[in-house]
Amino acid sequence: MFVTNDLNSTNYDACPECDLLINHAHPTIGDKVHCPRCGFLLARPRKQSIEHTFSLSIAGLILIFPANLLPMIGIEVMGESTNGLLFSGVMALFSKTMWPVAIVVFLASILFPLVHILLSFLISGHLYFNRSCRYLASWMCWMQHLDEWVMLEVYMLGIIVACVKLMAMAEIKFGWGLYAFIALLIITGMLTSKLDTELFWHRIGKLRKEHYHES
Ligand SMILES: [Zn+2]
Repeated sequence: MFVTNDLNSTNYDACPECDLLINHAHPTIGDKVHCPRCGFLLARPRKQSIEHTFSLSIAGLILIFPANLLPMIGIEVMGESTNGLLFSGVMALFSKTMWPVAIVVFLASILFPLVHILLSFLISGHLYFNRSCRYLASWMCWMQHLDEWVMLEVYMLGIIVACVKLMAMAEIKFGWGLYAFIALLIITGMLTSKLDTELFWHRIGKLRKEHYHES
């Protein structure tokens, strides 16, 4: 988490990794600011980060439905076909008493991506329309922590491995759920790369100040 202490006058920030206080000039687009002690990436300004995050999160919220509700893979063995959904993969792990794995897969590939996209939508939406909300800072903290736990690519890797193994013995059809899932994977990756945390924290602080002055 990158917290700007004073948003107007000085530009002192504490490094989230080693707590070193740094007074750096406001970086411009294309700049990268690293901590001089531990090398942690402190700021990486992005172009139109709020607008991009807002539109990407809307696309993500739409894609979550087909990715979770439509069949991902159809398997046909000797005339009998079954369809696999994202959730049925989790349920299969549960029924095989592999519940610790099932919980991890459920959290990293279904729940956390959903909450992450929802938080991105709520935060960027509020910032885009200049609406203050007292939960903005906590949402931002949650979102930054969740970022490390969204692991759609792990599930994707599992699908690829399973498909390669099954291809020899069964006919495999890829469903719309899989395409939506791949698109969702790209969207979550873009959400992380387009997020300008410093700008977001700065805007949240500014909105809070304006709100404080009004009331
Ligand atoms: Zn540091």
